[in-house]
Amino acid sequence: MPIDATQAYDDQNIFAKILRGEIPCNRVYEDEFALAFHDINPQAPIHILVVPKGPYVSWDDFSAKAGDGEIAGFIRAVGHVAREQGLPAPGYRLLANIGGHGHQEVPHLHVHLFGGRQLGAMLPR
Ligand code: 5GP
Repeated sequence: MPIDATQAYDDQNIFAKILRGEIPCNRVYEDEFALAFHDINPQAPIHILVVPKGPYVSWDDFSAKAGDGEIAGFIRAVGHVAREQGLPAPGYRLLANIGGHGHQEVPHLHVHLFGGRQLGAMLPR
């Protein structure tokens, strides 16, 4: 079920548990600002999730409330992961689902990083 992106942060969400090490993940990168790990149900040959370490429900929440350092650190981490995976040359896609119409399911901001094949049109018609 998609979430309401305006809801209060729930620290029992699955990515909060992964960040606290209570649930395992297949980690690809970690720094002060972000953790990146493989999606459990990949939609492309490369499907990585990058999450900020701070408690933000969605891109909306993050862009409104996070500090400049957190925002810069998170965006740099996403770019770093993409380069580490060799994605800039063939190309790749970033996606952040937000709330109901965006079909966001996990209420902790995450950016999907898709690559490894031709990804086709942006949205199904
Ligand atoms: P959303 O629809 O919220 O943008 O995407 C949530 C993503 O999280 C989905 O692609 C789903 O496969 C992934 N996911 C859900 N639970 C887990 C988990 O426990 N571990 C990992 N690695 N990915 C998960």
